[in-house]
Amino acid sequence: MFKRINGVEPEIYTFDGFSESRFLNFVTGRNGGVSPAPYDSLNTDSNGGDNPANVRENLARINRAMGIEKLWTPRQVHQDTIAIVDGGGTPGEVEADAVIVATPGIAVGVRTADCLPIIIVNPSGAAACVIHAGRRSTELGITAKAIALLAARFNCDPSSLAAAIGPGIRRCCYEVDEDTAKRFDSCCGGADGRHLDIVGANMRQLVSAGVKPENVTDCGICASCENRSFFSYRKDGKVTGRFLTGVMIR
Ligand SMILES: [Zn+2]
Repeated sequence: MFKRINGVEPEIYTFDGFSESRFLNFVTGRNGGVSPAPYDSLNTDSNGGDNPANVRENLARINRAMGIEKLWTPRQVHQDTIAIVDGGGTPGEVEADAVIVATPGIAVGVRTADCLPIIIVNPSGAAACVIHAGRRSTELGITAKAIALLAARFNCDPSSLAAAIGPGIRRCCYEVDEDTAKRFDSCCGGADGRHLDIVGANMRQLVSAGVKPENVTDCGICASCENRSFFSYRKDGKVTGRFLTGVMIR
């Protein structure tokens, strides 16, 4: 179940029943930060024009609320590179759209506003992963590749992995031009006319890579429909903030 964390400011959500004894997981909302419009208010990305000092304060509030001491985020480029965090590296300096962490105490996160955030954990505690699955990264198969890497490098059995799908733009609001829809449908399937189902496409990648459907939790939230709680690139008019989806091995 996806729910707001009670008694915590700023606005932060979590997947309940998702291996909490071993993992911290969180999705930040858009309220309770200091950024002015159009980044109002809990923007976690300084690359979109917001004052970096505001973003630093927002991230400090998130880290304080969640008890996070180290947060690692990549520079996202809509490709299929998967970074592995082992304690080194500086946040923002590595280009990647998914991050695997195997070191306890380091939270890894991706920033989104319509693109789909996905968390994957190995319930034994060995590794966790967070994915920025936008349209292009989905077409490149980033979710399937992340699972293959978890299996190859971290001995994760895909059938024991648990996945959580966060807020992103859904079929109801994701209309594209005909060529884009055809291209997406030919590689990923599920285009409904000109509406893309990015959740369905990533669900198919999860299952084809060996994740059991019953081990996937979908929050069911469309960021565009629910843009009072989550930033939406399309609904908010392109200049907007980004919310953060993250996971940490305790
Ligand atoms: Zn919608």
